[in-house]
Amino acid sequence: MNERILISGASIAGQTLAYWLARHGFRPTLVERAPRLREGGNGVDVRGHAIDVAERMGIMPQIRAMAADVQGMSFVNAANRSVARIDAQAMQSGGADVEIMRGDLVALLYEATKDDVEYVFGDSIRTLEQSGDGVAVSFEHGPARRFDLVIGADGMHSTVRRLAFGPESRFIQHKGHYFAFSNADSALGENRWVTMYNVPGKMAGIYRSGNHAQAKAYFIFRRSEPLTYDHRDVEQHKRLVSEAFAGESWRVRELLAGALADPDFYFDALSQVRMPSWSSGRVALVGDAAYCASPASGAGAELALVGAYRLAGELAAASGDHQVAFRRYEDGHRELVDQKQKIGPNVRLMVPKTRTGRWVRDTMARLPLMRAMATVERIMAPKNTAPLPDYNRDQVADHLIREPQLATAGRARGLFPHCDRAAS
Ligand SMILES: Cc1cc2nc3c(=O)[nH]c(=O)nc-3n(C[C@H](O)[C@H](O)[C@H](O)COP(=O)(O)OP(=O)(O)OC[C@H]3O[C@@H](n4cnc5c(N)ncnc54)[C@H](O)[C@@H]3O)c2cc1C
Repeated sequence: MNERILISGASIAGQTLAYWLARHGFRPTLVERAPRLREGGNGVDVRGHAIDVAERMGIMPQIRAMAADVQGMSFVNAANRSVARIDAQAMQSGGADVEIMRGDLVALLYEATKDDVEYVFGDSIRTLEQSGDGVAVSFEHGPARRFDLVIGADGMHSTVRRLAFGPESRFIQHKGHYFAFSNADSALGENRWVTMYNVPGKMAGIYRSGNHAQAKAYFIFRRSEPLTYDHRDVEQHKRLVSEAFAGESWRVRELLAGALADPDFYFDALSQVRMPSWSSGRVALVGDAAYCASPASGAGAELALVGAYRLAGELAAASGDHQVAFRRYEDGHRELVDQKQKIGPNVRLMVPKTRTGRWVRDTMARLPLMRAMATVERIMAPKNTAPLPDYNRDQVADHLIREPQLATAGRARGLFPHCDRAAS
């Protein structure tokens, strides 16, 4: 019946998947390498079908209450004088999209799952061995265990992907930039504005949300050739960022000092993950592990929430038949992933390569042109016209009537009031 499901990675994709699997009557276990939830990062966007997923989880009111509430972007010179401003609120569609600090979303998802899901912090899968009826898993620290299915939700440098699909160099595409996020002294930023300072090929910035006492620093720099570094060596990451920004003016020195002292400092390449298939036997991938679109897309959280919802729903709809479910998950989600991996000019605008490029960007930002371009981009962007399947109400209720053992598991946890009615 494929009930016991191991998920690697307790972030947005992993926790959303665990939530829905538990609601559908499966028994998810989440293993997270970090000793606690990783709440670092800046704002992430909940938009499109991700809003429907969050509504169905009952967390959308909290997401709205915690919204980052940022007014716009201000480009400054070395003397901290604003040379151009973009009012992001005026450029938005006035729609339902919400930007929330990543850490707030991760913590909300934990609250929504902690009573129904087994969490194992401070461990990682070491080996996976698939057979006809399950997967034997060994861990770096805990004892070996057996699961019916294993799902990698462990981000761009996924261990599950490496073990089941091969080395990451086959799937990661370098996009020419590196970025870091960290906590920052809020006195350095302007309330409700993202302030950015550019020199050619680099951007340092500070982001002060209206709803948070804490501010976040950004650093982005360009390298045409990939850097070689250990993606788990945070001290090395800090050195790379320090070297890239050494001697720069504005408030870079103070932002760097805050970043170097921050235990949640986060650094990575602005890369994408592209894979011909997201499953191999009893193993599948979700979120950045399968289809990272990079922070430049602004779509990481949306793809993770929607992908996890679909994967859990398809497993329920197929009565746990992973071959059917994995295929249907991919068929349903691939189109959105392809759309979101087409990144517009965001990075070029945020990190102009030359002084002339910066001048052009600043000039455009002062004109209504930028707003017009954003409007055109929004109108031309492909829309999600197909509705998100409602696995709870339709397919799952039907199949639970056919599969009474799953209905019993769901009812025992009080998870399917509508199915209780349908099955009785
Ligand atoms: C600390 C952090 C800060 C981020 N900040 C931003 C941001 O500001 N803006 C932005 O757009 N995106 C950010 N991202 C990426 C963003 O979260 C994702 O693009 C998106 O939300 C999809 O999430 P995900 O759950 O697929 O992957 P991720 O959010 O990357 O989560 C992967 C999880 O897997 C865990 N993990 C990794 N390897 C293993 C292993 N071997 N075993 C067990 N667990 C493992 C990680 O610790 C992490 O908790 C950040 C990611 C992290 C981890």
